[in-house]
Amino acid sequence: MSEMKIHSIDGQIQKIYFAEYSDRVLMLDGGCRSDVEKVELFFRDVLKRPISDLKLIVSTHMHPDHAGAAPILRRKYAVPIAAFNDADKWYNGFGGFFQHLADCSLSWLVVLKTHKPWLRMWYPRFLKPNYRLFEGNVLPFFYEWSIIHTPGHTDHDICLYHLQTKILYIADTVVHINGKCLLPFPVVFPEKMKDSLLKLSKMEISTILQAHGELCPNENPNTLFLKLAQTTNVKLKGQFRFLNFFMRLSKRAKKSTVVFRNFKILS
Ligand SMILES: [Zn+2]
Repeated sequence: MSEMKIHSIDGQIQKIYFAEYSDRVLMLDGGCRSDVEKVELFFRDVLKRPISDLKLIVSTHMHPDHAGAAPILRRKYAVPIAAFNDADKWYNGFGGFFQHLADCSLSWLVVLKTHKPWLRMWYPRFLKPNYRLFEGNVLPFFYEWSIIHTPGHTDHDICLYHLQTKILYIADTVVHINGKCLLPFPVVFPEKMKDSLLKLSKMEISTILQAHGELCPNENPNTLFLKLAQTTNVKLKGQFRFLNFFMRLSKRAKKSTVVFRNFKILS
């Protein structure tokens, strides 16, 4: 096994991880558009190696903080992008256009709320990945990383699992906010999210890498996934209940029958 070192940097909204090897670097995951400069500075000042060593970017799903920087980095440095097979269908069509607009607006709201600098967030709504991934695939160039399809937050979310070290990058499957581990917002497909969490709860995991916050040090990941799997159908309250409507504009999001039931209750 070639030696690997995990690094992380704080992006505009989320953390970005890098798996560094002697001859190549993997980026997890696609970041915000405004994170491009941070990535460039990280290679120059911290890794002290050329950005041409970045051999692959994996975008776990199409949200602005996971697919915003990737296309810009590809354009500037010819770095290929890998994403789940269906990723580009998420923002397709009329509904997809408005879903993309709603998701970018929500990201701007997060920036406002967290008092982060007001940087560029808009990004292409089609990623056109160079590599389309499926459940159980390994990453191109990084064969020790495998893909776990974990729909729920969207229909195309993936987690990345490092087979030798049992490190799991879970992207937005669980977020850590104000000292609590929670389901992300939105959970568009509650039943699928439950299945995804149950799948993760059966895995052998040494370390969890999250895009938003870090797991509580004393929290057992398997127990946590099991616990959260019991909460996927809990109804939203307050501002989230209102915002939930705008998270279902994508044609693919409307395919969730559970969402329809929730919507009927809300209306
Ligand atoms: Zn997300």
